[in-house]
Amino acid sequence: MPGSRPPGVSAGGLRVVPLGGLGDIGRNMTVFEHEGRLLLVDCGVLFPEEHQPGVDLVLPDFSWIRDRLDDVEALVLTHGHEDHVGATPYLLRERPDIPLVGSRLTLALLEPKLREHRLRQSVQHVVAEGDTISFGPFELELVAVNHSIPDALAVAIRTTAGLVLHTGDFKMDQLPLDGRLTDLRAFARLGEEGVDLFLTDSTNAETPGFTTAETSITPVLDQVFQQAQGRLVVACFASHVHRVQQVLDAAVAHGRKVGYVGRSMVRNMAIARDLGYLRVPEGVVVEAKELAGLPPERQVLVSTGSQGEPMSALSRMAQGTHQLVQVGEEDTVVLASSLIPGNETAVYRVINGLAGLGARVVHQGNALVHVSGHASAGELLYCYNIVRPRAVMPVHGEVRHLRANAELVRRAGVPDVVVAGDGVVVDLVDGRVDVVGRVPCEYVYVDGSSVGQVTEADLKDRRILGEEGFLSVVVVVDLARAAVLAEPEVHARGNALQHVDLGDVRAEVVAALTGALADGTTDVQQLQQVLRRTLGRWVSRTHRRRPMIVPVVVVA
Ligand SMILES: [Zn+2]
Ligand SMILES: [Zn+2]
Repeated sequence: MPGSRPPGVSAGGLRVVPLGGLGDIGRNMTVFEHEGRLLLVDCGVLFPEEHQPGVDLVLPDFSWIRDRLDDVEALVLTHGHEDHVGATPYLLRERPDIPLVGSRLTLALLEPKLREHRLRQSVQHVVAEGDTISFGPFELELVAVNHSIPDALAVAIRTTAGLVLHTGDFKMDQLPLDGRLTDLRAFARLGEEGVDLFLTDSTNAETPGFTTAETSITPVLDQVFQQAQGRLVVACFASHVHRVQQVLDAAVAHGRKVGYVGRSMVRNMAIARDLGYLRVPEGVVVEAKELAGLPPERQVLVSTGSQGEPMSALSRMAQGTHQLVQVGEEDTVVLASSLIPGNETAVYRVINGLAGLGARVVHQGNALVHVSGHASAGELLYCYNIVRPRAVMPVHGEVRHLRANAELVRRAGVPDVVVAGDGVVVDLVDGRVDVVGRVPCEYVYVDGSSVGQVTEADLKDRRILGEEGFLSVVVVVDLARAAVLAEPEVHARGNALQHVDLGDVRAEVVAALTGALADGTTDVQQLQQVLRRTLGRWVSRTHRRRPMIVPVVVVA
C-alpha cells in the first residue's frame, strides 16, 4: 500500500526505491535490493531554490539505508554530472569503502571532490560500454549512451528476479561530435532477452519530436565568431566537453586563443584533455592571464557561470568586478547553455549587466547556441518500441515530466507503467511490478559544514527573517514580587520598526507581563509566550507586519 512502511521483499523479488530525482531535476539516486543485498545507482545533489535560503546543496535522504550500508555491494555512477555524482562524498563519509563503478571520465571528474572531502582510499572499478561486472547477486552490463557529457552509460541489472534497464541521462543524437552513439543495438538485444522494468530519463518527455543534433550549433558558433569584433566570452557548463571542443575548433578557425575562467572549468578541461576526451590543438589554450595581454580580437574566454551563479566569473564580468576581464563595447558574450528553470532571474540579471556594459549577448533565446542533453518524446517512443519492456518507471524529472513520460509509455502500448516519487517502494516479483509502500525521504540540506541539521522549520525562520526582519524584547522580572524590573528593551532589524518610536509597545509589554505574573505564571517559557503574543498583536495592528519575534525573559 502506498504511504505505509513496506513489508520485506518477497523471496526472489527485486525492490527498487528512488531516494531522489523523482519530482526534481537533481539528487538522483536509486536503491535496488535483492536477496538482502543493495545496489545503488547514482548519488547526486540538487541545487537549492530561492525558498531554501542559505542552503548550499540538497542531498538524497540516506536514512532508509543508513543502518544497512554494509549490505551495499556497489554504487554505479552513470555519468559525471553533479546531479548524479555530487552526493557521493557524503555517502562515502558514512562508509568509505563502498565500491564505485563508473566510466573513466566519470570517476576522473569525481576524484577532486573525493580529495576535497579527504576520501583518498575509495575503491574504484573503471568500466566501459559492453563490460559486464558482478557484485553479489547483481550482474551489471554497461551500455553506451549519448548525453551532454562524454562517456555516459546506461546500466542493465540482471538478477534472478528479472532484467532491469536504467538509461541514466541520455539522448539519441545520430551525429554526435565524438561518434559515440546511444547503443540502440544493445537496447534491442536486451529487449529480446526481456526487460522487466525500464527506468527512463523523463527530462524532455514534454518536448515533441527529437532533440536537435549538437553539430547544428557549429555553424551558428562559426557565424558568431565571424561577426565578433572584439573579445569573445563563451559561458557553458564546466562538464560540457563537447561544447568546449566546438569553441576550441572555432577559435582555431578564426585565429583566436582560448583561456579558461572559473575553477571547475580549468580543472575539468585539464582532466578531459589528459584523458583524451578533449582535443586541444597545439598552442590554442593559454593561461587566462596571458590571454588578457593579447588584443581583444584574438581572445576567447571559456567561462563558468552560465546559470547566473552570483560568485561565478561571468557574474563578476557582468558587474564589472572581474580581476582580468573588463567587458565593454565591441565584445560578444555567448551563453551556450540551457536556462534551467528557477535560474531565469539570475541569468537575465547577468545578461542585462553585460548588455549594459555594451556587449552583444548571444543566448538560447536569440540563437541556436545550445541543444539539450536529454531525449525528447520521439526518442523515448523509439526506445519503448525497440526495447518492448514489460513495465516502465519514469525517472529524472519534475512531476510534469514523469507524467508526460508515463503518457508516452501508455501510447507505445507498454503493458505497465509505474509513476513513483522519491521514497516510493516498487517491487518486481514474478515479472510483475507493484508499489508496496514508502520509506522516509526528506530533503537533506548541506549548510556550511553541517549536513542534515538544518530543518524545514529553520528554513521557514530564514524566510520570515528575509521577508519581515525581526523584533526582539528583553525583560527582567522579579518572580517573588511578581514585578517587571526596569524598562523592557525592544530592538528591531530589517524592517520599518527600527525607525519608529517603540515607546507605546513597552507599556503594553509591561502591562501584559505584570498581568501574567499577578495570575501566578512563573514559568519562563510561558512568560515568553505572553511577550511573543503581545508584540505580535501590536506589530500586526500598528504596522501590518509579522516579523520574527524573539522574546527573552530574564529572572532577576
Ligand atoms: Zn546528466
Ligand atoms: Zn541528470
